[in-house]
Amino acid sequence: MHCNLIAGEWRTASLANTNRNPSDLDDAIGDYASAGSDDMRDAVAAARAALPGWRRTTPQQRADILDAAGSEILARKTELGTLLAREEGKTLAEAIGEVARAGNIFKYFAAEALRQQGELLDSVRPGVEVMISREPVGVVGLITPWNFPIAIPAWKTAPALAFGNTVVMKPAELVPGSACALADILHRAGLPAGVFNLVMGPGRVLGPAMLEAGIDALSFTGSQATGQRLATECAARGIKVQLEMGGKNPLVIADDAELEQAVECAINGAFYSTGQRCTASSRLIVCAGIHDAYLDRLASRTAALHVGHALAPETQIGPVVSEAQLSANLAYVQSGLADGATLLCGGERLERAQRGHYMSPALFAECAPDMAISREEIFGPVATVLRADDYKHALALANDTPFGLAAGICTRSLQLATHFRRHAEAGMVMVNLPTAGVDYHVPFGGRKGSSYGPREQGRYAAEFYTTVKTAYVGL
Ligand code: ADP
Repeated sequence: MHCNLIAGEWRTASLANTNRNPSDLDDAIGDYASAGSDDMRDAVAAARAALPGWRRTTPQQRADILDAAGSEILARKTELGTLLAREEGKTLAEAIGEVARAGNIFKYFAAEALRQQGELLDSVRPGVEVMISREPVGVVGLITPWNFPIAIPAWKTAPALAFGNTVVMKPAELVPGSACALADILHRAGLPAGVFNLVMGPGRVLGPAMLEAGIDALSFTGSQATGQRLATECAARGIKVQLEMGGKNPLVIADDAELEQAVECAINGAFYSTGQRCTASSRLIVCAGIHDAYLDRLASRTAALHVGHALAPETQIGPVVSEAQLSANLAYVQSGLADGATLLCGGERLERAQRGHYMSPALFAECAPDMAISREEIFGPVATVLRADDYKHALALANDTPFGLAAGICTRSLQLATHFRRHAEAGMVMVNLPTAGVDYHVPFGGRKGSSYGPREQGRYAAEFYTTVKTAYVGL
């Protein structure tokens, strides 16, 4: 059994969770310890005990450990990418890319540990100096989803450690393998006992146990329902909270878009990683002048996508992550049909040589903005097309959503691109690019129902993982 890491020790559990390959259900990746509330309590206590020592380490000590972890992740990217593709189902190329990103994130935050922020000011009072500095926020709980099994743990853990916090991480039940590999790398990179703890198991048990045990801050990525519940509980307990809860991201295709490029943006944005990205281009808003030509091309490209085993070189779209997710996707396809949308292609369960959760990418046309498939995050390979009269109508449709993570436009017009960049109600805007696919050195996050609290990643991560101290010194 793969164990939890608590107080520097690998601890077994009485329950185990078998990690299965969604491309091939006969491929069991391994048994992973499934922790209970007691383990979570111990992990938070260990992180609390380790905090005074870790926050006093020099930036150089923290940078060296993060850099070593980043180097090992990069050196093992093919092996770790293979594990990730096996447990999550994205293609091997995507999985290796994700692992490399995780390695680079650790290297980025190794440097960030050294790049400290502070200010020295004159007081408005005579004979007084003011110093503004940043301190670690304390014991940080991380709850992560299954769709980026190593990148999301990395982009939360690396800044937490860089700024002197200690960590308890609760990864998603479907992808314990990548989280375990990361814990092992961090442990061997030289982290003192208790600085990073891994507690695997069910969120509905371990989430409440984590808050009860007394963390100082919680960073969560997952569903809106869970995130909103956690935010309420954190507010009641005075726990600083950061939430990332998905999106229903519009990609506007203006009449003057370069057709092939705009089709590629939609194929990549909507269907790559099996549509299981919170930044997926799941709402395609196509202006009337280009609509029919665009849909012809997009439908034939979608129908030709090769769905298969995540590790097969010819695969473009891997399986859906789980049977529950596949059933939910298929239920959305039925809901779209019942609401009167036109299914241009896909939307069916597929049989392959191996038993897996395969589904053909679905493209819906003539969707109304109030249909469930146009409003709710599906988190699968299902894209809806809304017809817009013109750019102004397209912008209104793009912003007519409870979410606000990413928004994109395909256009050759500088004027439209600029207008959209300024008026899209989203945390991230992409011009002539898919809405998914972001850099690791710049802020990530959204507005409205997508996110809550400070941004993640880049130097903006300091907002969440540090707290500001203002000191007055009488001279
Ligand atoms: P998804 O649909 O992506 O699985 P969830 O919000 O259910 O979304 O899961 C995201 C993460 O939140 C997972 O690690 C999961 O175990 C955890 N989780 C689920 N329920 C709770 C809860 N009640 N409290 C805290 N964490 C939870």
